[in-house]
Parts: sequence; C-alpha cells; structure tokens
Amino acid sequence: MSDNNNNNDDYECYCYLCRRPESSAGTLIKLPNNINICNDCMQKSFDALGGNNLQFMDFSKMPNINMSEFMPFDDIPKSQKVKKKKKKEEAKEEPELSLATIPAPHKIKAMLDEYVVGQEYAKKAISVAVYNHYKRVITNTMDDIEIEKSNMLMLGPTGCGKTYLVKTIARLLNVPLAITDATTLTEAGYIGDDVESVLSKLLSTADNDVEKAERGIVFIDEIDKIAKKKETHSRDVSGEAVQQGLLKILEGAEVEVPVGAGSKNAMTPTTTMNTKNILFICGGAFPEIEDIIKQRLSKKSSMGFNADLKDRFDNEHNIIKEVTVEDLRDFGMIPEFLGRLPVLFTLDALDKDMYIKILKEPKNAILKQYTKLLALDEVSLCFDDTAYDEIAELAMQKKTGARALRAIIEKFMLDIMYEIPRDDSIGKVTITGDYIKGKGAPVIELRGTNI
Ligand code: ADP
Repeated sequence: MSDNNNNNDDYECYCYLCRRPESSAGTLIKLPNNINICNDCMQKSFDALGGNNLQFMDFSKMPNINMSEFMPFDDIPKSQKVKKKKKKEEAKEEPELSLATIPAPHKIKAMLDEYVVGQEYAKKAISVAVYNHYKRVITNTMDDIEIEKSNMLMLGPTGCGKTYLVKTIARLLNVPLAITDATTLTEAGYIGDDVESVLSKLLSTADNDVEKAERGIVFIDEIDKIAKKKETHSRDVSGEAVQQGLLKILEGAEVEVPVGAGSKNAMTPTTTMNTKNILFICGGAFPEIEDIIKQRLSKKSSMGFNADLKDRFDNEHNIIKEVTVEDLRDFGMIPEFLGRLPVLFTLDALDKDMYIKILKEPKNAILKQYTKLLALDEVSLCFDDTAYDEIAELAMQKKTGARALRAIIEKFMLDIMYEIPRDDSIGKVTITGDYIKGKGAPVIELRGTNI
C-alpha cells in the first residue's frame, strides 16, 4: 500500500512558503506540483510583484482556489504534509448553575471536605450562604424576598485557608472568581485602584462576559486594612473612604466598570455591570481585634474581680471566635459596611494536627503530589510519623499558617528529587524526622531487598 494512503486523514498540507499547516494558515491554495500556498503568502507575493497596482487582489476575500479541480494532481506525498495535531480533548463544559444542578449545602460541604482540612463551622456557614445566594439568583427572587444578600465576612489568622476556601467553592460551583486585596484600593481620584477595579477583575476572569460575571464571586482579602484610621488629621483615602465606596457595590447597583483595565480613564472602554447577584466575601486576619474582644469579655464579667479577670482570656486559644459586630465596629469598620456583610464567621488557627492533616489528606495534598511524581520513577516515597511532626513544628514556628508547609517541603525534597532518578536501584525512600532536622539521611531501600 502506498505510504501516502496510510491514514491520510491524520496529515494535513502546509504552506510551501511559510510552512504553516493548513490548520493555522487557513485553507491553502492548491497549485500544480504539490505546491500549496496560504492566502497570506500569496498576497505577499502579489503585493511584492505588483507594488500598489495589484491592491484589488485581496486573497483573503477570494473563494477557495483549488487548481486541482481543473487539472488532476498526483496525490500529495507525505513529505509535503505534516501530521495533524491531536485535538485537545474538549474541556468538559461544566453545566451552568441551575436549580437542578446547584448542590444542597451538605453536598457543598462534603465537596469542600475533600480539600479543606478542619474549619468545620466555616465550611458549613459558607455552604449554606452560597446555596441560599445562588438559589435566589437562579430563581430571580433577589428583589422579591426581603432578605439581605448573603455577603460574608470571615475572620481568621493568616494562612488558615480563607482564600483557599473561596477558591475551592468557586471552582466547585463553576462560577467566576476575582480575588483582590483591599490594601490596593483607594478612594476614587487618588493613587491606587478605585473600587470598580474589583469588578473589572471579575469581568476579565469571566472572559468579559458581563452576564457570567454578574453571577460571580468577589473575594476581598485583607479587609482589616481598610479600617477607619484612628487619630488621623488628613483625609482617610484608603480606609473609611474605601469602605464608603464599597457600600454601593456590596448592596447591588449598576456600576460603570472599565473593561480590561484597573481604572477608568478616557481611553478605556466601559460597560455597565449590575452587582445585585454578585456574592462578596471579605476576609481578614484582624490581628488586634483579640485585644478588643478580651477587653469586652473581661469588662462584662469584671464585677469587682477586675484585676485577675483581666488576663483570664490571655491564654484562650481562638478567642477570635467570640467576635461580634460591636468589636468590629470598635476595630474601625463602619456600621453601614458591616451591615452589608450579614454572614459573619471565623476560621480557626491551625494546630499541629491540622498541619499534619493538610500535609496528608486533601485531594491535592502536597505530599501526595510528590509521592505521585516519584511513583512515575517507580520509587515509593514514605514519611514516618516523626517526619510529619517535624514538618508541622517547623511550619508552626514560621507563623504564616499552612503557606509555610510548601516552602519547608520543597527545601528538603530538592535533594531527593535530584538524586533519586539517577540511581535506578532505589525502590523506596523514607523521610524521617531526623532528615528534616538536618541530622541524617533519608532511609533508602534498594529494589528487591524488601520483598
Ligand atoms: P489565608 O487564610 O491567608 O487566605 P490561604 O487560604 O491562602 O490563607 O492558605 C494558603 C495555603 O495553605 C492554601 O493555598 C492551602 O494550600 C493551604 N491551606 C491553608 N489552610 C488550609 C486548610 N484548612 N486545608 C487545606 N489546605 C489549607
């Protein structure tokens, strides 16, 4: 059988001049002697030949030219063709949210459980709020029911999973998500981003599809940084003014949003977005709020025993759980702003057990990723309990939450990932606590020795 006929469909012609295959250059003009030219090259050739005199020859507007229809050509040999690229599997179109597809709160929580360790209360609160929000969006009853939008405010120390929780939920529900930092926002007209920039980001993550963006989620991180500045004599352009600016969009309004840019100016096109159905989630560590809570709690129960009650709460773990709207107001958030974030919940500070679980359990846990990478080299990677302990201890010392884990692991895994592939006889590597402490080497077992 001739080579040319072999799976001819898998091959495509390419342009004789620019070498681009038909799939990228467009339909080729077929000429005798197996020469195929794309429209662009043909156009360039004519332009070069005729200067400006042949401008009427616009090949891109011509119908397909196939000379083989007039004169039969030989089959084009494979040497004149390239193999077609395999079509990427069409990204599965996730179903749009509808009343039938929106998962019930317990299902949303179960999905979150696969990724986020601990934070039970937060996962429950967010599942219910998100479910209620989208139910109202889908049934278009946002206006009818006089219930406030379920915008949320979450408090929790850095690295405990606030952003991760929001990211996970947006992915599971297949809605666009924009994450911004409140510290970059300033009052309109000052250096920094206007509050509308938050919506611009959402629009761009929704591929500039306004309708899709209007059902998205906006996460504003570091919200504690826009607290009212105390004792300031100048205009508070990055604090109270930003809270004031956000009021309108949090509640639901038609907002003029710059497309593809952070700020409005004469050159950027704008579009109108309605923020009624956008879910706003604000998060922050609110570091000094613990003192405010302690003060309030000890005041409440002082009654003559003030002296020893004052530090009664000092050793209380997770005192942030006791937070109330009044505490937030004392912290510097304005009441109107807090009123538009009716769902308030806190996330727990991570303890050692949680760190260890984060290492091992989530679907995309970092150690699972390394184990899988080494399994491709047919090496099994194990960690003994002392190793988990040691990694968790190191991460806790860094005080940046679970974010520290990756840095620690990457540091000690570097040598292993470098050394293992060069020795085919290695079958198993066990990481120990001593190795993490830098006191010894990992335990290496050769292939076949442990069977
Ligand atoms: P923050 O609370 O400061 O927003 P992040 O959500 O960005 O912190 O957390 C940083 C990283 O730590 C996440 O990308 C995630 O991988 C990991 N992480 C934090 N908390 C958890 C958790 N509870 N469960 C699983 N992973 C977590």
